[in-house]
Amino acid sequence: MQTAATSLSNLPAATPANGRKRPSLGARRQVRIRRQVVGYICLSYAIDAILLSVFAQTGAISWMIAPAYLACGVGSAVGFGILYESRLGERFADRFLAIPQAMVALSIMLSFAWLAPEAGFLFLCNLFVVFSFSSLSASARETAMVWTAMTLGLVLLLLGGSKPIGLPLATPPDRVAAVLAFALTIGRCVFIGVYSNSLRQSLYNKSVKLQEAYRRIEELAELDELTGAFNRRCIMRMLEDQVARARRSGTPCSVALIDLDWFKQINDTHGHPVGDEVLRTFAITMFANIRGVDRFGRYGGEEFLLIMPDTAAAAAASILDRLRLIVAELDWSAFSAGMAVTISAGVAELQPAELPDTLLTRADEALYAAKEAGRNRVARA
Ligand code: GH3
Ligand code: MG
Ligand code: MG
Repeated sequence: MQTAATSLSNLPAATPANGRKRPSLGARRQVRIRRQVVGYICLSYAIDAILLSVFAQTGAISWMIAPAYLACGVGSAVGFGILYESRLGERFADRFLAIPQAMVALSIMLSFAWLAPEAGFLFLCNLFVVFSFSSLSASARETAMVWTAMTLGLVLLLLGGSKPIGLPLATPPDRVAAVLAFALTIGRCVFIGVYSNSLRQSLYNKSVKLQEAYRRIEELAELDELTGAFNRRCIMRMLEDQVARARRSGTPCSVALIDLDWFKQINDTHGHPVGDEVLRTFAITMFANIRGVDRFGRYGGEEFLLIMPDTAAAAAASILDRLRLIVAELDWSAFSAGMAVTISAGVAELQPAELPDTLLTRADEALYAAKEAGRNRVARA
């Protein structure tokens, strides 16, 4: 049982700066689950011990059986719990010691069925519980091993021994205890299923959250925090990819360096936070008006790079002019009375055998020309 529960939340331990290993949250949770399971196993043995005490009270079995059974069961559960916490299991492939635990539990059940055959049915019923536990985490080969050991034990017990295996039913307390023995065995099997299901569900929920976190990390690594456009590293990588692609396929590819006009003045007049809002709104406007194949990223400050695959210079210039008009015609006065925002852009088409850097330099020169020519315009390299 422990094996199933703990294997479901197997996360590595964190190593802090001082070099000493401090258990991670996942590892601590694993230990907590492990202890919980040890508690459930002890409780399970205690329930059986109570039923055995009832049989002992009515004289059906020896009074020593119940305490001896309780001691063996609790001792083995606690013992394996200690072995797990001492990380001994990590030396073996079966790190949760599933097979040894199942074998010990089987030995306890079969030995007590042999020692107290009058209540042997109670112990044999428990084989279902042991099997439910071990098969939750064991592999097919391991399950086959446990099953073979159990079958051999049953052969020895049932064919080798002469004493009949039974369940005390002579007195009303015996009958009540017998009913409880069956009912509680089935209850424990159901509990194991439900418990492992709940652990699986919580593990599934965690993996969904983890996937979401990874997605977010990837996004953060690629996107500019303020504008949501691709960051410089990402857009430069995309430029290299698109240049290589255009060269392979022999299709045109154009880029535009876009710069907001008089942006320093916007900051100075309306404040830096308003400047930020302008950058954000500009980026959103761009996203809403570029094609799905285009790539838009923040090149630095208030300068942006637009990559337009399969687009020659003339088409790129007209795309940019349309974008320029859209930006100029936005109602920027909503941000601050009398505010107007315009952009200038330098457009360049990739030349045969041209490197991304040279392409950008030509786009930058065109941008400079657009600024020189009075801003709010598009210039071609
Ligand atoms: P030009 O038309 O020649 O481009 O003039 P400009 O004022 O836009 O150019 P300049 O390079 O002088 O100023 C750019 C300004 O953009 C200065 C800088 O403070 C501002 N800026 C850069 N990044 C950010 C940002 O993330 N937020 C805000 N609010 N301002 C920024
Ligand atoms: Mg500017
Ligand atoms: Mg600039």
